[in-house]
Amino acid sequence: MSAEFIPAAKPIIGDEERAAVDRVLRSGMIAQGPEVAAFELEFAEHFVNGRATVAVNSGTSGQHLGLLAAGVGADDEVIVPSFTFAATGNSVALTGATPVFADIDPQTFSLDPDSVRAAITPRTKGIMPVHLYGHPFLVDQIEAIAKEHGLAIYEDAAQAHGASWNGRPAGTIGDFAMFSLYPTKNMTSGEGGMVTCATDDLARNVRLLRNQGMETQYANEVIGFNARMTDLHAAIGRVQLTKVDAWTAQRQANAAALNAGLAGIAGLTLPYVAAEAVHVYHQYTIRVDAAERDGLRDALKAEHNIGSGVYYPIPNHRLPSLAHFAPGLELPETERAASEVLSLPVHPSLAAGDVDRIIAGVTAVLQAGA
Ligand SMILES: *Cc1c(COP(=O)(O)O)cnc(C)c1O
Repeated sequence: MSAEFIPAAKPIIGDEERAAVDRVLRSGMIAQGPEVAAFELEFAEHFVNGRATVAVNSGTSGQHLGLLAAGVGADDEVIVPSFTFAATGNSVALTGATPVFADIDPQTFSLDPDSVRAAITPRTKGIMPVHLYGHPFLVDQIEAIAKEHGLAIYEDAAQAHGASWNGRPAGTIGDFAMFSLYPTKNMTSGEGGMVTCATDDLARNVRLLRNQGMETQYANEVIGFNARMTDLHAAIGRVQLTKVDAWTAQRQANAAALNAGLAGIAGLTLPYVAAEAVHVYHQYTIRVDAAERDGLRDALKAEHNIGSGVYYPIPNHRLPSLAHFAPGLELPETERAASEVLSLPVHPSLAAGDVDRIIAGVTAVLQAGA
């Protein structure tokens, strides 16, 4: 095995990012300041048609503060998927509210409208769908349910920079949306998050909660956090913003090449893309039989030097941290997805021959097992 290892994800940091950090370091002002303010405006213009946008120190902080700013608290329930990163349910639980786990649609891996309906109670305040893997959630159906029952939508857009549904960008659909800027996401600031808000009032509340409850220095209005982004991180993010569209196009081209090369392999389901959707391929996720999945992952690494990932192996309603919210709950599509999904490398730093190696590796392993 001589070929170089192909990692499942790889952040791209160039000379421009290094120069931007150096510029901020030399300025002597390294905490939250003008770089963050500029990054917020540029991010808002780039992704969410100029919606009021607040930068924070992580996606998780953004989700937590967004929910608090939207008034979610101890008496409330928020419907979330179980098939997601734990931050989705955690952020609801951290407000004191109850995360109520619903099942997923097997094609998009996002909230199943029927399961959402069945989870509604008099305490339900909102629905927090996830644009999982960079494919938008089923926007029309979830919006119709929210409207019918008077519920808010809070978007988990952590993986969905640039995704859209019928031309509506991820991050412009809910009362607020959270984007993550963690290194493995479609663009990064090191750590960081953005909260895009439907109203200026909501954005003001997030700003207060981000900075000890103050808008004016030492005139603290509410009890808040320190969830500020630094200018060092914002400087990285601003450069990444100028590159992210090209990276997304490369992800989409890589996905198309993987689709073409993997089509027709028995027992393998390719990623689904709804007719209404622009998919930004944070992950390129196939399904294989549960009995073969872990063997495929291990053989890709051991025999072909190719990384891959299972996102996510344990449904959130089964996690030791969150299971007490869902005693005895059965979510069949969630359980099935957790045992069948495998995400192959799709990131924009794949070299020309890497996609061919991934196709050849997957084909060889699955055909040897057949
Ligand atoms: C990454 C991620 C988060 C959390 O974002 P951080 O920036 O890591 O705090 C939340 N939800 C989903 C679906 C994610 O992928």
